Amino acid sequence: MGLHSFKYRFRTIDEISPEILKEIGVKGVAVDLDNTLVYDGSLKFFNNSNSWVESIKAADIPIIILSNATAIRAYLLARKLGIDYIAFARKPSPKALYKAAKKLGVDISQLGMIGDQIFADVEAANKAGAVPLLVDPKTPEVFFRKHFMEIRKRERILLDEFNKRIGYYVND
Ligand SMILES: [Mg+2]
Repeated sequence: MGLHSFKYRFRTIDEISPEILKEIGVKGVAVDLDNTLVYDGSLKFFNNSNSWVESIKAADIPIIILSNATAIRAYLLARKLGIDYIAFARKPSPKALYKAAKKLGVDISQLGMIGDQIFADVEAANKAGAVPLLVDPKTPEVFFRKHFMEIRKRERILLDEFNKRIGYYVND
């Protein structure tokens, strides 16, 4: 398995149900913020973020925010959701994922890293030995737009290849 490979791809976090997490052996989840739960660089949640987090909590699956965002923004967003957070994670470094697994009380191999970026979230998960769960980014990035256009272009090649072989975990 390469650093950028993954088995589980979803259109949106809503598709990641407690049942599916159980099915794939994920006992705790670390979830990205920007373009996964909130509009890029903002304090604004997507419509479904709150209810999804509630559904995970209701299933007694421990959950934590794991974001490269600043501490203040991660703190404010985590507080609204009523969950713990790790900010400034420096993904694709795996370091924060080990910390997350420890905080959640799960083995690193049972930690699901949910995020929208192959070169950050997926890579960090693979380096750590956690389970990468890729979601489609909700919106084009607002900040560092050029930088992200380049990253998304590189991702596109991997995603096209992935779709040919596997496709989304949840089918229509
Ligand atoms: Mg993101």
